[in-house]
Amino acid sequence: MRLWMLKERVANELRELLGRGRAAIVAKDSHARRRPRPCGITIHPGHGCPLRCTYCYIYDMGFGIKPRPYPLSGEELAYALARNPYVVPERTLAAFGSVTEPLLPLLREKTLEYATSISRWLRLPIQLSTKLLIDEDFVESLRSADPGASILVSVSSLRYWRKLEPNAPEPLLRIERASIAAREGLRVDLFLRPIIPGILTEKELRELFLAAREAGFSGVVTGSLRVTKSIMERLRAADIPVEVLEKSLRGVKLSERQVPVPDRSTKEAARSVAAEVGLEYLPSACAANVRSHRMGCALCNFGPCGALPRPDPSDVEEFLELLGLKGSASFSEGVIKLVLRRWDKGRARIARVFLSDVYKRRVILRAV
Ligand code: SF4
Ligand code: SF4
Repeated sequence: MRLWMLKERVANELRELLGRGRAAIVAKDSHARRRPRPCGITIHPGHGCPLRCTYCYIYDMGFGIKPRPYPLSGEELAYALARNPYVVPERTLAAFGSVTEPLLPLLREKTLEYATSISRWLRLPIQLSTKLLIDEDFVESLRSADPGASILVSVSSLRYWRKLEPNAPEPLLRIERASIAAREGLRVDLFLRPIIPGILTEKELRELFLAAREAGFSGVVTGSLRVTKSIMERLRAADIPVEVLEKSLRGVKLSERQVPVPDRSTKEAARSVAAEVGLEYLPSACAANVRSHRMGCALCNFGPCGALPRPDPSDVEEFLELLGLKGSASFSEGVIKLVLRRWDKGRARIARVFLSDVYKRRVILRAV
């Protein structure tokens, strides 16, 4: 109830601040509508990216090479998120860096403006992934926005980075520069992504992970490749060895649709080299954000991650009443179960998604 009421209060205050006309426009923005996934809601400080990484999927999504700052101000973004019925203050993970590079010179200030605003108004746990170089000023601003902010330094390969990320800095330099953030007390993890099946060797993993440990990183996160027809063509044209990738895709007809290509054996190798080197291995980016903010989560099969509080069913029932729903709640085997007597589909869905993010647990709904 506290978090729902906090969100309403923030939305009301920001509506007054923005003025009703502007607020009505902002309420239609995608940040006000998108339903967060268990790994959080993606925050877009801009669209498009000039770095043209060979494996990047944003160009297939219609984004160009010219970055454009997102048109909302920091307060407008916070208002859009406060209006999103599924976003929970203090809980919904906010991930920067999905359809652009958040540290591009043109977007860096917007990224910090957004981080400051959503942290101030909604205290969302912030995570940022980048392959550009971090500096003291950036770290200081990010840390003052959110002292628990999680930074992921993306690296795909040491041997092939020039072909895969021709316009990004050298991977070991990315890692070295991120030591500034680790020294200032922020959690930094190496984001090994995308894993292109068959190209990473154990020697390469060890070299990367040793550099990350040296730089004060806490762990390693792995992320799969998502491939489309044009990404495959670009990888071939860049002379990347794609035999193992082709084998994993046998029988798949590639198009503009993104096809995830998990590579279990490289992930297993990463897990074992991380353990050997003394870095924590994490299955997903959100696990780093959850740890960085000392939270707990059991929303997916990779978890549980961190330590989870036990929900009190009577608190849940009070919240249902606040939403105008009648029903009972129980908690067993790590799952919250709701039995609703008065069924309003829309509100029931909001209750289920909101509660699952409040408690970071699965919620099962049944109507009687
Ligand atoms: S930096 Fe990120 S958004 Fe930009 S091209 Fe590379 S993968 Fe795509
Ligand atoms: S359980 Fe862990 S990996 Fe799964 S959504 Fe939660 S934080 Fe992410």
